[in-house]
Amino acid sequence: RRLFTGPLRTAILRRDTHCTWNGCTLPGGWCHVHHNAWWSRGGPTSYLNGAALCPRHHTLVPDRDLTATITATTVTWPIWPTWPT
Ligand SMILES: [Zn+2]
Repeated sequence: RRLFTGPLRTAILRRDTHCTWNGCTLPGGWCHVHHNAWWSRGGPTSYLNGAALCPRHHTLVPDRDLTATITATTVTWPIWPTWPT
């Protein structure tokens, strides 16, 4: 299943509360749930492969081919100093 929906989406947004990009605080209700390992590359639609990203950062992250570190409680993106927040 390609999209994060229902209880899975709810659980991920409860963990992340807002866009997970460094310094971004756009509320979860505005966010997409991003496949950290891309769906097109075989990434699962699962709790530990989903991260809330606002539309702006959901455009930039795949563009730069970045990967987050996702645990049961946190999502951490690599520092990318030249990126807009
Ligand atoms: Zn964002």
